[in-house]
Amino acid sequence: MAGVQEEQQVQQTHAGNGAAASATGDIPVENPATGAIVATVPDLGAEAVAEMATRGRAAQAGWEAAGFDSRGRILLRAQKWLIDNTERVVETIVSETGKTYEDAQFAEVAYAINAFGFWAKSAPKYLADERVKSSQLLVKGKKLVLRHRPLGLIGVIGPWNYPLTNSFGDCIPALAAGNAVILKPSEVTPLTSLLMAEALKECGIPENVFQVATGRGETGAALIENVDMVMFTGSTKTGRKVAEEAAKRLIPCSLELGGKDPMIVLSDAELERAANLAVYYSMQNAGQTCISIERAYVEAPVYDEFVNKVTEKVKALRVGVPSGPGSVDVGAITFPPQMETITEHVADATSKGARVLTGGHAKSGVPGRFFEPTVIVDVNHSMKVMKEETFGPTLPIMKVADAEEAVQLANESPYGLGASVFTRDAEKGERIARQIRAGSANVNDALINYTALELPMGGAKASGLGSRHGSGGIRKYCEQQAIVITNRLAMKREIHMFPYRAKTTRMLQRFFKLMYGRGRRD
Ligand code: NDP
Repeated sequence: MAGVQEEQQVQQTHAGNGAAASATGDIPVENPATGAIVATVPDLGAEAVAEMATRGRAAQAGWEAAGFDSRGRILLRAQKWLIDNTERVVETIVSETGKTYEDAQFAEVAYAINAFGFWAKSAPKYLADERVKSSQLLVKGKKLVLRHRPLGLIGVIGPWNYPLTNSFGDCIPALAAGNAVILKPSEVTPLTSLLMAEALKECGIPENVFQVATGRGETGAALIENVDMVMFTGSTKTGRKVAEEAAKRLIPCSLELGGKDPMIVLSDAELERAANLAVYYSMQNAGQTCISIERAYVEAPVYDEFVNKVTEKVKALRVGVPSGPGSVDVGAITFPPQMETITEHVADATSKGARVLTGGHAKSGVPGRFFEPTVIVDVNHSMKVMKEETFGPTLPIMKVADAEEAVQLANESPYGLGASVFTRDAEKGERIARQIRAGSANVNDALINYTALELPMGGAKASGLGSRHGSGGIRKYCEQQAIVITNRLAMKREIHMFPYRAKTTRMLQRFFKLMYGRGRRD
């Protein structure tokens, strides 16, 4: 996409947001694959964010009152818009992330197309009033209703690795529930969010119901000061800060954080499939996926064969500047400091005795930022590459004696996002999956749980709090209200009320004995 065209687009969208006047400066957006600056966006300060929040709150009541059908229609229009504008969206994602055409198409655009339809259809179902029955005598004959009411103004803060799926994607259920949303995308990848603001506007979303606050970390911090709930996706380090700030304001927050996902390969696994999935799910999006396979544990009898297969397949990967469908397999490293982290993890491992079988370095002779797809063996848990999130195209493989050792090592991590187990014995695989403390676990697969929007996706341990997708993925944007309705036939005075009388008290005591006092006392 031409930089000039993009720049115009960014400015127009911000004029729509009405916040450009309060920007404290500009942020250049770089194409990590080429090094070219493709656009600039405003760096919004606290005042601008507060103004956006005022406008968002004013717009929210009408959006909530519009109801599920009206909101759903706009979301379905946006789904069609995405299908009709796929090429433009893919180009925008590629231009600011440097990822491949396919990584943008399948893991981002296809996700959002599905998500628009899913939430348009599922919001009324997940948020419908529930009639509740109670065994409590005091509410007999009354109507009990559990209601999910939108919280109001939601702040969504997103990372740079999936600007559509992980930044914008979490806005869709928040909007479907009847909230206004302000999205703070990563300063590194703000263009996709701005394009989606334009898309929603074209699809008829009322003004200020969805706004984008471009800026740095400070803009995100200002957002937390102004919203009723924060949905954060990013590193565990920033997630802790977000949780602290949300706690100070006593607002709910949902946190989707980092991971170090283990893959376990047992000796009875279908090795060709295991190797293909190991390569794909560790190198896809250049390894910059929260639920990437970040480390593999392989039972000794199949270790050599697995390592050979993986190494051959990794050697065949084409790395470079994406120039359309099928041009390369592995794209750029989006966030500049990530190159240092990946390089440091590989160097730390080799300094402690690990061997690099292929890759291991930044790719030289290219203008952008690329890291060679890397396979590392002779690794152990003293190495960063096995303990800390690398977030690059690296796969360290460790030999283990048996499944028990693999499970113990898989759980030896502060993270608990995803995991995978490979074995021809599906029952054994499920048994092992259940022993791993992770928010999701796949048997003979990896990551694929993310595409099933009916399933919750979230992290255990330091990988997060709460989840996206499923009923919880939309109810978190609402507060519950319990409503009890007593009809006009009710008694003038209920039995437990003043004045207290010994006779009534005794009668109620006898009633409780009758109700709950029977049966053995063990
Ligand atoms: P960061 O935590 O660095 O940043 C995430 C977002 O928070 C960015 O928009 C950032 O702004 C903003 N931010 C920074 N400081 C603050 C603050 N004090 N208050 C509020 N917001 C702030 O994460 P990355 O962008 O580096 O993303 C990579 C991480 O995200 C990885 O750890 C990855 O595992 C995780 N992730 C988790 C997913 C999950 O579903 N569990 C999915 C995708 C990624 P800015 O960028 O402008 O500094």
